[in-house]
Amino acid sequence: MRAALIVSLGLLTAAPQARLAVTHTARAIQPGEVVLMTIDAPAAPRDVAVRAFERDWPVYRDAEGAWHALVGIDLDAKPGTYDVKIAAAGDHATEPLTVARRVFPTRQLTVNPDLVNPPPEMMARVESEAQHLHEIWDHPAPQRLWASAFVRPVPDEANSAFGTRSIYNGQPRSPHTGADFLSPAGRPVKAPNAGRIVLAAALYFTGNTVIIDHGLGLFSLLAHLSEIDVTTGDMVAAGDIVGKVGATGRVTGPHLHWAVRLNNARVDPLSLLYVLGAAPRGGGPGEAPSLSDTLLVREPRTPHD
Ligand SMILES: [Zn+2]
Repeated sequence: MRAALIVSLGLLTAAPQARLAVTHTARAIQPGEVVLMTIDAPAAPRDVAVRAFERDWPVYRDAEGAWHALVGIDLDAKPGTYDVKIAAAGDHATEPLTVARRVFPTRQLTVNPDLVNPPPEMMARVESEAQHLHEIWDHPAPQRLWASAFVRPVPDEANSAFGTRSIYNGQPRSPHTGADFLSPAGRPVKAPNAGRIVLAAALYFTGNTVIIDHGLGLFSLLAHLSEIDVTTGDMVAAGDIVGKVGATGRVTGPHLHWAVRLNNARVDPLSLLYVLGAAPRGGGPGEAPSLSDTLLVREPRTPHD
């Protein structure tokens, strides 16, 4: 009698308890997009875990105490429904993401042949740079180094070439994993947000390159600079000048290439600006173009890489 009473009381107290409430924000659920997950837990949990696409995603708490995770849908993700699994304070929730098909344009570019097929004496350099980049992506700062909104590194229009399949001098090469901003040479380049400079060097393909580790697996790579104004190890704030726009590396003319890595997923910087950018969505200088705009191909009038 007594045992039964305790059980029923347990049920009564458990039943009205609030569950995890999970919502997500994204420009689109498609390859190359950043998805901001927001997790509301009934009691303030000390830790929250988020798993999707067969990997764990770093979480953070904002100033109001809400938990978030930035989940990146890699450029090569196949269409289909993927579960995001959230665990907090002994509770679980599943948020399905249905990744829609996205067809990326193909573009034909003509560049110096040595930048399509590096000469044999350059291969060791190219391979060592690729390995160095992988080591950077695999070892992000474990804590969040940014606090404010993300900003555009330059005020100029982006030609939305993210994901484009590039054919260089008639030969297919890896897809384009950044956004190209149509900036004149010499334009100062701002840090899109705070972080630590983990690379400030001339690389074979991306020319003068700066990589900012924003923490929690989020990195910005800024390429083709004419001048680098930071050094590896420097801490930068959002908007600090890290260099100047140029035309170094594999390019057809001056522009800024901004690429974002998120927990090793290759995502469109403009989709990051959409969910965590400074300007209100749909207006202002930080506006992210609509997805239909991003499918416009404006080549070959504009410089790119
Ligand atoms: Zn580019």
